[in-house]
Amino acid sequence: MCQSTCKPGIVIVNLAHPNWDYEEKELGQLAEIKVARCRSYDELFSLCRNADILMVGDIKHVPLTRDVLEKLPKLKLISVYGVGIDTIDLDAASELGILVANAPEYGIEDVADHTLALMLSLLRRIPMLDNELRKSGWNSIRVNINDLREKFGAFRRLSSLVIGLTGFGRIGRAVAKRLQPFGCRIIAYDPYVPDHIFQQHQVERSDFENLLACSDIILIHVMLTKETYHLLDEKAFQLMKDGAMLVNTSRGEVVDEEALIKALKSGKLLGAALDVFEKEPLPKDHPLTKMPNVILSPHIAWYSEEAMMEQKRETVLNVKEFLLGRRPPYLVKS
Ligand code: NAD
Repeated sequence: MCQSTCKPGIVIVNLAHPNWDYEEKELGQLAEIKVARCRSYDELFSLCRNADILMVGDIKHVPLTRDVLEKLPKLKLISVYGVGIDTIDLDAASELGILVANAPEYGIEDVADHTLALMLSLLRRIPMLDNELRKSGWNSIRVNINDLREKFGAFRRLSSLVIGLTGFGRIGRAVAKRLQPFGCRIIAYDPYVPDHIFQQHQVERSDFENLLACSDIILIHVMLTKETYHLLDEKAFQLMKDGAMLVNTSRGEVVDEEALIKALKSGKLLGAALDVFEKEPLPKDHPLTKMPNVILSPHIAWYSEEAMMEQKRETVLNVKEFLLGRRPPYLVKS
């Protein structure tokens, strides 16, 4: 975007952070920076048409498909504030000579912490007990254990359970590390990770069917790809143990939500804890919001003050290195 200064033009699209002081400080000398909120393609084209670089936050409503990329003729780099690059057509970007980079390391610890928090809350029914205690008082839940069991299902001890990780990348491994001290059996399914990584983390390798059949709690940590879209579908839920639980902090579309709701209603699944959804923002009246055996959080697993700063640092570094004629450190392969 050659304006009066002839500096390259950066548009920061749908930034979740409260300010862009760091971006200005690091990149302001090298480029013209504009900040845009784009909820429609009309807004995107009007604000980004002349951009050389896009730095993108949540673009779920305006994914960068081939058609869209073809209409951004000056674009040379997309730097994503986050890990997931499922909103960008990587093949098209590569064919059009547009580099794509992300921030792959910023929230590993935070998502792993959040996954454990969701899992333990589900296992010990913390939000359900809290809600019941406030609403109906002590005696409604503590009269006898049979009533409690009836209301919330039987509680199980973590060290006696099998935890199944679907996807054993950065976050999956950070979760495994946190699970080890609890003494549970940890198995994982990830066809793209070599054996020695499983051994190093003392996690048993499993195929998908075995993981579904053996796990008391399934934690999902795969990337969203064509292959993982609806990986957890009706058939997968049928293969699970009766009374299993599910925690998803990866991407909503990995789980067929309709099939999940069916499995929860039928009692096949005892509970689920979800940070991500097929449709985000999750509609206020979505059936999941009405289910007592479900814990929800609003795609916030990544958040901590530390992670937010780290996310900015990685996203900005990609752009800075590019502007200085060097290779962005976190380039994504198509
Ligand atoms: P990663 O790339 O390090 O790990 C993903 C793993 O999935 C890889 O090891 C890969 O081999 C595996 N995988 C790919 N296809 C598979 C398949 N068909 N079956 C089984 N495994 C398969 O990614 P990561 O950093 O660990 O992120 C994991 C997930 O967490 C991603 O979906 C990411 O978008 C999501 N995420 C969510 C939040 C949040 O706030 N909720 C924040 C960051 C990341």
